[in-house]
Order: sequence, then structure tokens, then C-alpha cells
Amino acid sequence: MELRKDPITRSWVVVGHPEREKVRPDPCPLCAGNRPEVRAILDLPTHGPWQVRVYPHFRPLYRIEGEPGRSAEGIYDRMAATGAHEIIVESPEHTRSLSRMSDEEIERVLEAYALRIADLKRDARFKYVTVFKNQGAQAGEEWPHAHSQITATTFVPRRILYELRSAREWYRDRERCVFCDILSQEIRQAKRVVDNAGDYYAFCPYASRVPYEVWLMPKTHNHQFEAPLAGESRRHLASLLGRTLRRLLQVSESYHMVLHTSPNTLQTKGELSEYWRTIAGDYHWHIEILPIVQQRSKSYSIKEIYFNGTLPEDAAESLRKLDPNK
Ligand SMILES: [Zn+2]
Ligand SMILES: [Zn+2]
Ligand SMILES: [Zn+2]
Repeated sequence: MELRKDPITRSWVVVGHPEREKVRPDPCPLCAGNRPEVRAILDLPTHGPWQVRVYPHFRPLYRIEGEPGRSAEGIYDRMAATGAHEIIVESPEHTRSLSRMSDEEIERVLEAYALRIADLKRDARFKYVTVFKNQGAQAGEEWPHAHSQITATTFVPRRILYELRSAREWYRDRERCVFCDILSQEIRQAKRVVDNAGDYYAFCPYASRVPYEVWLMPKTHNHQFEAPLAGESRRHLASLLGRTLRRLLQVSESYHMVLHTSPNTLQTKGELSEYWRTIAGDYHWHIEILPIVQQRSKSYSIKEIYFNGTLPEDAAESLRKLDPNK
């Protein structure tokens, strides 16, 4: 595996075959006790039987050893696929999905996200830590057992770079956070807000890429998801996430979920360090959920231009009407 940079779009692409460890889907490798030879990276709670367990990925895209060692190949840039790739098993029960868990259980999954992000960010080689979840066959989930994935990479994913760039420019011009501005207008207009719990809001973004796209965001400005939270705060987020997923699953069985948090500011080399000066003020963590809904005009949306056949205002209205406890 190696990373190659597209000199035009400047995005890094992971190229090669993942080393195939023979993992048979049966018995399920994520069920407790089926892989005693693999040591868990983290168990929550830390005492007693675990509810959330983190493993190294069985077929990692990135390897933890070594330096990224950027090198040139003529005009091109490449580097070794150094990084981390982990699986977060969200429950010891094979058939329990995240949307069906109690607020307390979802909170524990979110806590595992936060602990792993904070830990991986201590490694200065890693520029960014991504947490994502592919739910359902259409989203390309690897196992039916509830799980999320974490990658730590020596580059910042392109979409995050776009966000960092826009956030910094917005802040430079107005001394305000673009995400705070978006959320306060959404709350004021109340057209695209789906739900809220405590400080957290779920809304369909103005330029939703797919039908029923939903973002979750705290109203109180914070650039780091993994920052310690006071009191009930993460429980509110867990409750809102559970309610939102139960609504979305009535629209589609498959979705992609990704957490966007601030990059690793320990990295001081290169263009990125430019971003760190105002990052605490200009960036704002959020969760993006992209359901997979069959669309009629699919051919327009091969990742070049998004075509969304459902107005986000209509999507939000339908989602509000759906029972979040169903
Ligand atoms: Zn299982
Ligand atoms: Zn903000
Ligand atoms: Zn984002």
C-alpha cells in the first residue's frame, strides 16, 4: 500500500491491495470471544464486561510502523501508507444496532471515539484522525455487527482541507466562526432544523448533497470533538444521535456517518501550520450523516456534481414528522 498525490486536485489516494488477513465472516470476528488472539486497544467501561471494544483493523489500509517518508517520482509525490486503522465494536451483541441502543450506550460509543481521537493525536506523525461508520449493505459495511472505524493519516483529507480553508477565510473577514453563523441562522429560520437536545442541533444543510443529509452540531463553539465535556453534555448528543438515526432509518436502511473535528495541531511542518493560528476560533466540530436513498437521476452525481432531488426544507419537515422512538 502507498499514498499517491494527484498533482491537480492535491488529494492523496491510497493505492494498492490491503494485506489480506484471512478473516472468515463466520463466525463473526466482532463477536466477543471469536478472536482471542487479537488484543483490544480499548474496552469501555474499563472495569467489568465491555460494551464498546476497539481493535486494530484486520485488513488495515494504513500501517502504524515507520515514517511516512515523502519521496518524489519524477514530478509526482508519494509516501508510505503509515497511519492507524481501528475498528470500534459498538456492542458485544451481534444484532444490536447503534440506533437501537440506549442513550447511555450511545454515549459510551461517543466516548470511545473521543478517547481514541485524543490518543492518536498524541502521535505527531498523524495530521488527521477520521471516525466514520458505514451502516447497511448499500453503504458498503464490512460486517453486519455494529461497528465504526477510525483512521489516523499523515495527510488531511481533501474535504477537511476545504472546510479549514473556508472557515479560516470566513474568520479572517468577519472574526466569526462560519459554523456558528450557519447554526444560528438555521435555528432562527427553523426551516431545516430537525431536532435538538440540550446544546446540540440536528439539521439538513442548506446545500445538502443527498436527500435527508443531516448534520449534528453543538451550539456552543468548540473545534475539538474530543475535548472533555462537562456534565450531561455528551448524553444529550447521544440522545440526539439516537433520535436522528431512528428517523433516518425510516427513510433509508443505509447511511454513511463521518465525524469532522480539528486536525492534529502538533503537526507544524508545511502549509498546515498556517491554519493553526485561528483554528480554535474558526473551526467547529460536527457530524455529517449521508443516507443512501435511491434517486432517479443518478447519473449526474458521480461525485463530480451532486444532484439532490429532495429540497432540504422538505426533507427536514418529513424527518420532523417521523417518530424518533420508532
Ligand atoms: Zn458479531
Ligand atoms: Zn463555531
Ligand atoms: Zn464537515
